[in-house]
Amino acid sequence: MGCIDHKNSPTAGNHQSGSDHNPFDVMQPRAPLKTPADRKNGRHVKANDIPPQGVYLPNNNIMAPHMKSPEYVQLSTAAAITLGIMGGRMYGCECTRCLNLLLTYPEGCRANCAYCGLARHREADRDYADRNFIRVDWPAVPMAEIIDIVAGDPEASPFHRMCISMITHPRSEDDTFTVLKQWTDRIDPDAIPVSILSNPTTMTRADVQRTKDLGADIFTVALDAATPEVFDRTRGKGVQSPHKWSKYWEILQDARDIYGPQKFGAHIIVGMGETEFEVLNLVQELVDLGGHSHMFCFFPEQGSLMDHLPATPRDQWRRVQLARYLIDYQGVRVEQMLFDDLGRVTGYGIPQSELSGIIEEGIAFRTSGCPGKFQDDISACDRPYGDSPPSDIASYPFQPKKKDLRKIRRQLEIPVRVE
Ligand code: SF4
Repeated sequence: MGCIDHKNSPTAGNHQSGSDHNPFDVMQPRAPLKTPADRKNGRHVKANDIPPQGVYLPNNNIMAPHMKSPEYVQLSTAAAITLGIMGGRMYGCECTRCLNLLLTYPEGCRANCAYCGLARHREADRDYADRNFIRVDWPAVPMAEIIDIVAGDPEASPFHRMCISMITHPRSEDDTFTVLKQWTDRIDPDAIPVSILSNPTTMTRADVQRTKDLGADIFTVALDAATPEVFDRTRGKGVQSPHKWSKYWEILQDARDIYGPQKFGAHIIVGMGETEFEVLNLVQELVDLGGHSHMFCFFPEQGSLMDHLPATPRDQWRRVQLARYLIDYQGVRVEQMLFDDLGRVTGYGIPQSELSGIIEEGIAFRTSGCPGKFQDDISACDRPYGDSPPSDIASYPFQPKKKDLRKIRRQLEIPVRVE
């Protein structure tokens, strides 16, 4: 296992529109193909009876139908390297600060989100345990083994946070509760706080409450799409997927009531057809509710229904990244900012000298997500290379260095001197 990267990664700017942003008209997912009956619902995996044997590395092609949550979870390649379960290196980082876990079942996620490597349509050609997700592989590991490693000395663990990612599956809630309870029974959530990345479609308000009662610290909703139109097209009826914008907002409001200020948030993918004005208004709405936005730069995930589309151009991404940081952590309001006719940011609402200082700090360009132990605006969830290749970094999983900041400034097209 080498450095986290994919061969032939498309790079931002190498796109069809010739534009400096990804407009709605261009970002149309392709239609899902019909899945052969013998592969639906993980049928061919379940037809086997091979028992799981410890850690399963993707593409081993062992069809082990009993390798499922809550006994098993998948974890990101970065988390597996940090835990010592896999070998490998990550460009620019010694470890990840977030132990990202993903529920797993032979039939996988039952939703069909167009940008996602885990989507249901992929059952036609790739078993769930072998699917790439946010650009990396996710080995399957017994939950007990993960807990044994971390519970040895939680205070000394490299992880500043653990996160359980739910998927769309009838067992998703119950198994999330079980995995969470197993963790908090052995590991003090004050030593390593827990986040829930929820799947609202199958959840109730009582489920949100239960996660809090079992010791979770932050609850996030993977809204992903920034507008109802983009949501419907990429994860609703546009791709035969069950999600509804209104249900996601219902659970988000429940999370606000139950978890309270600064303890809930939403994931948003930038560059799927929304304008910069639209996404930054959403960021402001979340801040006004008391929450945070966690941002991803759209990347055409291999095998997804959007793998033919352009990655978000870096200038669009940098403008949104910087503006989002100002709204989320610097008290600037979207109403102070300026936008052109295409909704692109043309002014950030603060004096140039102040803006230069914030760019120079570099934190705005790091991966955004739930905080760790360093400071509130530095995410534990650093997701190394989850939204770009290391050769053209979108979200920096480390503190950007001077050469990185020079590149960022070029991408922002803001002529500021670097010392
Ligand atoms: S619900 Fe989540 S895991 Fe399932 S396809 Fe959609 S984005 Fe992927």
